[in-house]
Order: sequence, then C-alpha cells, then structure tokens
Amino acid sequence: MSIAPTGSSRRPRPTDQAEVRRHNAAVVLEALAARPRSRAQVAAATGLTRATVGSIVEELIAGGLVTEQGTREPRGRVGRPGTDVALDPAGGAGIGVEVNVDGLSAVVVDLVGEVRHRASRPGDQRGRRAGEVLRSAARLVDDALAESERQGLRVRGIGVAVPGLVDLDAEVLRVAPNLGWQDVPVLERMAKAGRGGWPPATLDNEANLAALGELWSGGHSGADSFVLVNGDVGVGAGVVLDGRLHRGSRGFGGELGHLTVAPDGPECRCGARGCLEQVAGLDWILRSAGLEPRGRSDAVPALLAALDAGDERAVRAVGDAGTSLGVGIAALVNLFDIDTVLLGGIYAPLYPWLEKAVQASVDRRVLSAAWAPIAVRPSRLGRDAAVVGAAQSALRDVLADPLGVLAG
Ligand SMILES: [Zn+2]
Repeated sequence: MSIAPTGSSRRPRPTDQAEVRRHNAAVVLEALAARPRSRAQVAAATGLTRATVGSIVEELIAGGLVTEQGTREPRGRVGRPGTDVALDPAGGAGIGVEVNVDGLSAVVVDLVGEVRHRASRPGDQRGRRAGEVLRSAARLVDDALAESERQGLRVRGIGVAVPGLVDLDAEVLRVAPNLGWQDVPVLERMAKAGRGGWPPATLDNEANLAALGELWSGGHSGADSFVLVNGDVGVGAGVVLDGRLHRGSRGFGGELGHLTVAPDGPECRCGARGCLEQVAGLDWILRSAGLEPRGRSDAVPALLAALDAGDERAVRAVGDAGTSLGVGIAALVNLFDIDTVLLGGIYAPLYPWLEKAVQASVDRRVLSAAWAPIAVRPSRLGRDAAVVGAAQSALRDVLADPLGVLAG
C-alpha cells in the first residue's frame, strides 16, 4: 500500500487525512518496533515531518502503546525531541493457544515480543471429544487473561493454532485427521466455555502460524523466503515467499504431511496411503525407535535420551525419518525454488540427528542443488513456534493499524 505522507504536494480530502494519519501511525510504530529512537530519528527514518511524528507519538503515548525512555541529550527534558521513545511492552499483549495432538499450550507475548506467561497441559488428545478439549483450551485462555491482568498487560487479541485445515472465513476447523475432528467451530466453542470478556480471537493452522512466528521473530536474517516444516504426530509446512505466507487459493496449502512419498506405504488417518507423516511423523519415529507412542509426554524425552546415549535403533529411526522428510521437502524446493528450510516442532530438538539425512535427501533430489545450495536449519522458536506465532498474530493488528485499534 502506498499512501502519500502528510506534507506531500497532494492535498488529501478530510476522510483521506484520517486514513493517512492511521497509515503514518503504523509507519511510526514500525520504526519504533525496530528499536527505540528519538522523534527526530523517527522522522529521518520514515521521511515524515517532525511535526507529524511528534503529534502521532503523543497519541500513541496517550493510548499506552509507546513510552518515553529518559533523555538522550545531556540537557534534554522528557518530552523534548531528544528523548528516546520506545514501544511500551505492557501496551499490548497477545494470547496464543495451541491445540495439538499431544497436548495444549498457551503463551502471553507482550508488544516487544517477550513471552510473559507460559502454560501447558501435556497429554494425548486423541480419543477426547472436541468439546472437552476446547473447554480445557478455554481454561488456558482464562488463566492467561488473569495472569496478563496481574502483570498489567493489555491483551489485544487471542490466536488459536490447530493441526488441520482451517476455513478462515467461517472460522471453522474443517478437518484435523490426527484428532479425528471435522467441521468444528473452535473459536465459538472456546468462547462459550470461557469466562467471557475475551478480546477478539482468530483461528489458523499451526504450521502457518509457526512460519509466521519465525518470520516475525526475525531470527533468520536475510531469509524472507523459506519453508518451515512443523513436525509432530502430523507434519505441516508453512511456505513463506518474499516475506508473505502462501496459503494457496482457498487457504488449505502446506499439507506436506499428506504428500505421498510411498504409494504402497502404510495407510494414513486421511484415508490415503504412504503419506509423509506416516513415515516421518513422531509416532513412526517412536515406534521405529522401540518406544511406545502413547503417553507421549514422556516418550519424547526418552527418545532424546536414547539419541544422546547413541542408541543405534533410535539414531537409525530418526535418520530414516530424515531421509523421507527430505523427499517431501525436495518436492517443495523443486516447485518453489526455496533456499532455506527450517525444521520446527519436534524436528527442532531432533535436528542434530536429522540434519545429515534431510540434507543428503534434499541435495540428491533437487535439480538446482549443485548450483544453488539449500540450507536446512533448525527453527529458532523450536516447539514454541506455533503458539508464539499465534500470540504474535494477535498483535499484528496493533502494529498494522495502531490508531484503529485504539479507536476500537
Ligand atoms: Zn495422509
């Protein structure tokens, strides 16, 4: 979007002026999100006039989104142009909730990206009714809201991550094969089960939110095109091209786990055969390593302990999963020419044992690999990527349109 800053030769109509101001406020907040600066530095960085920056900063301070940080110049006074201005961490917080096959988790992330609260309820959710699981998730939200209030954080929104296809318009989880859920209005059910007084909530696929979490956390400098592979019982991918998440034409893309890698392989919960998650997902890894998939909260630490001890069966299981994973990733890279692959979810702690097999499998199958290397790296946020991405997604509205959020 390109809107002329105030002070340009174009004279905006009154309605445009309000729009321009909202846009400029987002530009100012973005500059401050990068690092604290004086008003003069914000003006220099954004190309806005000092007067415009000054009045927007006053409005953002009044709304509690930014705060002054003492003086930068020896004789400056608070409120003078030399004073640094920064985002106020307490000015906005997002609650992220992840409903996953192996448990539920929630975080509160403040406006500067700090995780201020964390809670989880491990346990296999398969076999539990959707209503029962979502009541537990609603309790996590109620607890997170209470904790945010105790810490003086203003919660601006709630993001919910689920392991399945999300119809974004209808706010319905269409299908989550590993949970056995179909057409579940997740947000509606959670809100009904909660104590009320909730801020706006949104629903999205966990791999998409994990990819957005990585993108917004800025941990892979230079990589604005990457695929994040989120591994768990299911396997999903979030594809980010040129800094934007690609969801596909109806929002259902990224289902890497259901890419066929062995046409005659084991049957998948989706009804097909030989899907990637059947030969590279957590259950397959645990079984191949000789560990029991049920009671998973103990199984993953047991797997890591076995790997650390050099247990041959465990090392081979993870290596084989990595080879299959590489087959799936190579298909994505051949299609989209992505140079960076981030391994998230359980693949992040397993990375030291996965890396070689994934890289070799990718390099063998990607046509361009000899001229254009593909980097396979662990995700920065690891297993937290989806839940942190969900919380951050709830804060994006604040950063994109701070005056609109303050007015609402
Ligand atoms: Zn499948």
